[in-house]
Amino acid sequence: MSEKKVNKIGILTSGGDAPGMNAAVRAVVRTGLYHGLEMFGIMRGYSGMIDDDIYQMDSRSVANIIQRGGTILKTARSKEFMEPEGRKKAYDNLRKRGIDGLVIIGGDGSFRGAQKFSNEFDIPCIGLPGTIDKDIAGSDFTIGFDTAVNTAVEAIDKIRDTADAHDRLFIVEVMGRDAGYIALHSGIATGAENILVPETKTDIDELINSLTEKEKRKKLVNLVVVAEGDEYGGANELATIIKKRLPQADTRVCILGHIQRGGSPTCLDRLIASRMGYHAVECLMNGKHNVMVGIVNNKMHYTPLDNAIKAKQTIMKEWLKIVKILAS
Ligand code: ADP
Repeated sequence: MSEKKVNKIGILTSGGDAPGMNAAVRAVVRTGLYHGLEMFGIMRGYSGMIDDDIYQMDSRSVANIIQRGGTILKTARSKEFMEPEGRKKAYDNLRKRGIDGLVIIGGDGSFRGAQKFSNEFDIPCIGLPGTIDKDIAGSDFTIGFDTAVNTAVEAIDKIRDTADAHDRLFIVEVMGRDAGYIALHSGIATGAENILVPETKTDIDELINSLTEKEKRKKLVNLVVVAEGDEYGGANELATIIKKRLPQADTRVCILGHIQRGGSPTCLDRLIASRMGYHAVECLMNGKHNVMVGIVNNKMHYTPLDNAIKAKQTIMKEWLKIVKILAS
């Protein structure tokens, strides 16, 4: 691990975009400038590092972006960076400008790339968890998760209105890749009857029984929230099974899709992005290198990039129990 002083910091957003990334970029740039460092924006993640799409940033470069979704630095996935030749090209571009520290805002794949890059070229890297999926250990929240969940809640509330008007059974699919946190949080917050997540085995008989039971009791609205990564493959697949086993139910499907990625970040996402961005620069300056900056129990928490990569958060079984009780 390098302990040398950092003077020039490069910042990039990588992998899937998440609302709040801009707030993090702003925090990193302004904290660095406050300490008299030179700050550089790297466009389109690791691709921009390889293509030398890098520009110096001042305080005005990040003006008026805290409220904007997406990322002003753009984001991309780079196959070339997976190869040693690609990473060498990227390093040469950093060296040319004297960039001696990196802040990477992204998911576990981006951290994997950062760890490799840092091992090969002795450039300290700091990771900030930027993903709507919340599938990274070492932080209670990831940048973008809260916004995505709130978007899902707003949409599901609207679906509930029409489900209610027609006495329909709605199966709503939310994002999350192979993690069920968006489904769990948005499902509880919208009073879903059932929530299906990849972390737990789905008992289809139990699901059908509970839906049948509710039908008998003339429960007005039936809402099932399913994570896109559930073992049954999402809302369409689940609807096919339900329609076969419960043909009397008026079953409809709604896949929320990419609306969950966009939009203005919530207060919470702006706040954690600002705190994490500030501490990313502090880490680089204080020799705390190759860590992911997270927040646990409202305190800053530092996880070696290696561990942030490997571990996944555990789903709260108790929460699923609450769903069943509250939906009865
Ligand atoms: P996320 O960061 O959202 O998980 P990806 O998994 O697509 O997104 O990773 C983003 C980028 O990080 C990839 O396109 C690639 O350039 C880089 N990356 C991912 N895994 C590795 C790896 N094992 N070695 C080098 N670079 C990697």
